[in-house]
Amino acid sequence: MGNLSGKVALVTGSSRGIGRGIAERLARDGALVVVHHSSSEAAAEETAAAITEAGGRACVVRAELGVPHDVDTLAAGLETGLRAHGESTLDILVHNAALNLMGRPIEVLTPEEFDRMIAVNVKAPLFLTQRLLPRLRDGGRIINISSVSTRIASAHGIGYPLTKGALEVFSHSLAKHLGPRGITVNSVAVGFTRTDMTAEALADPANLERNISLTALGRIGRVPDIADAVAFLASDDARWITGAKIDVTGGVNL
Ligand code: NDP
Repeated sequence: MGNLSGKVALVTGSSRGIGRGIAERLARDGALVVVHHSSSEAAAEETAAAITEAGGRACVVRAELGVPHDVDTLAAGLETGLRAHGESTLDILVHNAALNLMGRPIEVLTPEEFDRMIAVNVKAPLFLTQRLLPRLRDGGRIINISSVSTRIASAHGIGYPLTKGALEVFSHSLAKHLGPRGITVNSVAVGFTRTDMTAEALADPANLERNISLTALGRIGRVPDIADAVAFLASDDARWITGAKIDVTGGVNL
């Protein structure tokens, strides 16, 4: 039995990439994991199948975030998925899904593009948390996936880092508010990690080398590097950590 046995986790955007890695790791630690996606039905089912084949428990929920009634759709799907497993409450909420419109410096970023990133990266975590708070058990965990781009100027644009900065403020403000319930709220600042989000950027050898050279540990991040840090924050070992930001970047720009 893992240390999350008996716990229930929702990981937004866990059909692919870092979210999938987090879902698989939390399930390996014993949690029932709700795998959430927007449009990658097959990938989400594949994630859930990988979890159950490894002896874990999972269900799949579809909801596009950043559109009207997104929170209603996700909450309804979550309720159905949990009921099928005889559960109704949540212990761990990981806000991982995000939209990163790359190559949008201030000269070209449009208000519409910025609104889309705000809607997915900030508004959805805020109002999803609001909706799920009554379901979140005392002593629970909220983990927000942020980015190294809140600490170093991004080459890819200004809108996305602004949304992650807002998510970090959300994180520590909420940590204070939920402290009396024993719920911890932390953020994980991710560095350049090999996923679909970064595939195009990393395909450029010069860009790859530049990003490797920024790290102290001399390589690009791998999904388990992030998932293991999230699993620590989700565990009882992190019970005294709240309102913190953990830099999981291999030491970018030290
Ligand atoms: P990917 O693009 O590989 O995966 C994104 C996931 O989020 C998918 O599961 C996708 O679902 C879901 N998603 C995206 N938009 C929406 C939406 N509008 N509604 C619902 N679900 C959505 O991302 P990564 O794994 O690379 O990134 C995960 C997190 O890590 C993000 O918060 C990102 O900002 C952060 N991060 C990543 C870095 C990196 O180098 N990869 C660096 C810094 C931070 P679907 O499959 O259905 O499209």
